[in-house]
Amino acid sequence: MNLIFLGAPGSGKGTQAIRLAKKISVLHLSTGDLLRAAVKNGTELGQKAETFMKAGELVPDDIIIGLIEEKQASGDLNNGFILDGFPRTIPQAEALDAMFQRVGAKTDYAVLLDVDDDEIIKRLSGRMNCSGCQAGYNYPANMPQKEGVCDKCGGQLVRRPDDEPDVVKNRLEVYKKQTQPIEDYYRKQSLLKPIAGVGTPDDIFNRIVEGLGVA
Ligand code: AMP
Repeated sequence: MNLIFLGAPGSGKGTQAIRLAKKISVLHLSTGDLLRAAVKNGTELGQKAETFMKAGELVPDDIIIGLIEEKQASGDLNNGFILDGFPRTIPQAEALDAMFQRVGAKTDYAVLLDVDDDEIIKRLSGRMNCSGCQAGYNYPANMPQKEGVCDKCGGQLVRRPDDEPDVVKNRLEVYKKQTQPIEDYYRKQSLLKPIAGVGTPDDIFNRIVEGLGVA
């Protein structure tokens, strides 16, 4: 199954995409995770992407499309995948379709996690990640046993620099302006699966699984 996960920052798409990828045994590919790793390792890609990410802006299309084309060329997408955070603009969605056409693949569904703005801001201000294993926490709903310390590996919990309040505001604006139009792009192709992104993570997961018929 080839899936795309859409949703505003903080909609929970990363958490749900990871869980679903495990359940249906496909690759989970997050462009945000790839870029953060590149920044951390100081690679050429990371150096190009860092300024945009810090400001809550999108990394230019040609860079990000190149990244996905590399994954395709290396065979990583051959056995099903969930793309988390890509595409994020119409040119990216068109480039993905063109790439699929070249290799005879297709998108099965674009899952859209629907969450309103107030809830998004509340969630992002409580989001923390482990600086070691990247495990995600959310204050106050999902806190570690020991304040500031990862339950899984003992690493230090940190807030993503782009989760600071003024950057969050910009990321939401960028989402509305540049990413929301692709909801229509997939709706017109009858591929959009809107899912209410409210309730517990289990509730949301069950809705996704039911919506896709993969229970
Ligand atoms: P995320 O973890 O998906 O919220 O992504 C974090 C940041 O990485 C975004 O705010 C962008 O700066 C950048 N990024 C991730 N995916 C893309 C994409 N498909 N196109 C452009 N920029 C992206």
